[in-house]
Parts: sequence; C-alpha cells; structure tokens
Amino acid sequence: MLVERRRPERPEELRGQVGTCRCGAWWTGYKTTHCAAEGCHQTFTGVTAFDKHWTPQHRHPSGAGLVLVDRAYRQKVWGFPPMTEEQREKAFGGRAT
Ligand SMILES: [Zn+2]
Ligand SMILES: [Zn+2]
Repeated sequence: MLVERRRPERPEELRGQVGTCRCGAWWTGYKTTHCAAEGCHQTFTGVTAFDKHWTPQHRHPSGAGLVLVDRAYRQKVWGFPPMTEEQREKAFGGRAT
C-alpha cells in the first residue's frame, strides 16, 4: 500500500502541540516562536531568529537576513539561511559531513 505523504494544511491534521494566533497562523514545535506585534505576525524557527528581526529594531524578517524555511506543514516560517560552504568550514573546521 502506498502511503501518500502530503503536507498538512490545517492544525487539526497534526498531532501533538500546535500553537495558534488570532491572525490565523499556526505552528508546531516547542522552539517555534510567533511575533504577535502589530503589522508583523510572522513565525520563526526559534528565539534566535525571532531576536534577529527585533535587533537593532523591529522589522520584517526578510530585512533581517532571514529566509523562509521549508516546514513539513503549509505555514510560513522564518529562519536562518543555510550555511555556505565557507561558513561550514569555519564552523566545523573544514570537515563537512
Ligand atoms: Zn515581529
Ligand atoms: Zn499572529
């Protein structure tokens, strides 16, 4: 039997803890953070990404160097762009696994 793997479109389709906001956004994962500031209402992969869009001032995540990351469900979540080869070398001493 072939199991169809499709992305959930509603929180009810997910098991476990789901966070929701009055703006209609929802997310899963205990690290996921949602900004409920007026005019923002963006979701972030974690506190680090969240902090970045508040530093030095509150702005749209795209202006803070964040990118939309691919989540297993259909919601927009902002996170850090994937590391470049160069950054990986600096971080892991040149040994990419
Ligand atoms: Zn915000
Ligand atoms: Zn919201």
